[in-house]
Amino acid sequence: MLLGCIADDFTGATDLANNLVRSGMRTIQTIGVPSGPLAQDVDAAEVDAVVVALKSRTTPAAEAVAQSLAALEWLKRAGCRQFYFKYCSTFDSTAQGNIGPVAEALMQALGAKLAIACPAFPTNARTIYMGNLFVGEVPLSESGMRDHPLTPMKDANLVRVLQAQSRGKVGLVPWTAVAAGEQAIRARFAALEAGGARLAVVDAITDADLHAIAAACAEHPLVTAGSGVAIGLPGNFRRAGLLPQRDNAAELPRVNGLAAVISGSCSQATNAQVAHWIESGRVAVRIDPLAIAGGKDAAADALKQTAQQLKAGPVLFYATAAPEEVKGVQAKLGVAEAGALVEKALAHIARGLIAAGVRRLVVAGGETAGAVVQALEVSALKIGQQIDPGVPWTATSGAHPILLALKSGNFGTRDFFVKSLEQLDRP
Ligand code: ADP
Repeated sequence: MLLGCIADDFTGATDLANNLVRSGMRTIQTIGVPSGPLAQDVDAAEVDAVVVALKSRTTPAAEAVAQSLAALEWLKRAGCRQFYFKYCSTFDSTAQGNIGPVAEALMQALGAKLAIACPAFPTNARTIYMGNLFVGEVPLSESGMRDHPLTPMKDANLVRVLQAQSRGKVGLVPWTAVAAGEQAIRARFAALEAGGARLAVVDAITDADLHAIAAACAEHPLVTAGSGVAIGLPGNFRRAGLLPQRDNAAELPRVNGLAAVISGSCSQATNAQVAHWIESGRVAVRIDPLAIAGGKDAAADALKQTAQQLKAGPVLFYATAAPEEVKGVQAKLGVAEAGALVEKALAHIARGLIAAGVRRLVVAGGETAGAVVQALEVSALKIGQQIDPGVPWTATSGAHPILLALKSGNFGTRDFFVKSLEQLDRP
């Protein structure tokens, strides 16, 4: 086990794991800190990296620190050599944290003198220049993140943002040094450290920058970043002779069984994906939150209604609805209540589908995926081939694996549901 990662949310963890697999590391994602050793379910000798998915982005800082330290302890015991704290590519955080406090607590636990902070992910149009984070063509503070309900980002200057939530001094590795390559970055690290800095925001505009930054961090006990810098870390392990060239990092067990799709996301992308499925003439059952609130057991009814159809081909179960309809439901039931009621019904359907022989399941929606994974008592996922950017197929661990594709809101092309299931049948 080479790399131990701590991610501050579930879909972010998958995004990171996906990048590691694509760079040739066999990667497992765990849901929370596992209660026992990984060896219970997985052969640890067959794993190069583990990503522990936490839900610590917006919890109180002390709680995020405690969870992250527990994850670190577990990863250390699993034998990891280097550690990675993964946050969002838009540096989602509040004035209280949690990026600074978690980074500093992990540094202290690892005896790290300096750690980078680099959310850049040029592939997704997140770049950093002179410490300023850009989303596409605009500074972070002019992007949609300005109005985020939980973590509004009103300052694009990451040195300032991180300094406000850190005890130690925060410095900058400017793009001039990054563009000059690994040795220039290392020299800048040394200068910052000599000047008393503990955290270094690092500029990055291209994937080549990310590779140079990763190379300069080869001996750092801790790397803090978005999922971008991870594309360069496998190269470090390879150069050190620790990681063989792997062509099969994305290999999952071949699993036969019935297939289904569960959709609880109401994003624009997911609405289009549900429409595509229905237009293509496939079987789809709508789950109506108001009917459930009226006392109907919609989940049991839907399962009963589709029992025969499921044997003939994949069935879609969806609560997905257009924004006006969702608002109407929320006005009648309350936002949180409506969400919880739908998630409970979809989780019930997931359990019913597995009992009916489904072994290939696509789930749309971040919260929905969380509810399904919890209902199926999934503790770890092996990450497989990418379907669309940020969304890979995964397999549950253990003797009887289930294949899961967990798609967060706006990800995936219009034909995502059909495409993901078809991908499994390709040789
Ligand atoms: P996304 O990844 O798009 O944000 P999530 O699953 O995280 O999707 O969030 C969608 C939320 O909306 C869930 O809590 C889900 O239960 C809820 N929901 C789904 N369908 C409806 C609906 N028809 N009316 C109200 N709420 C809904």
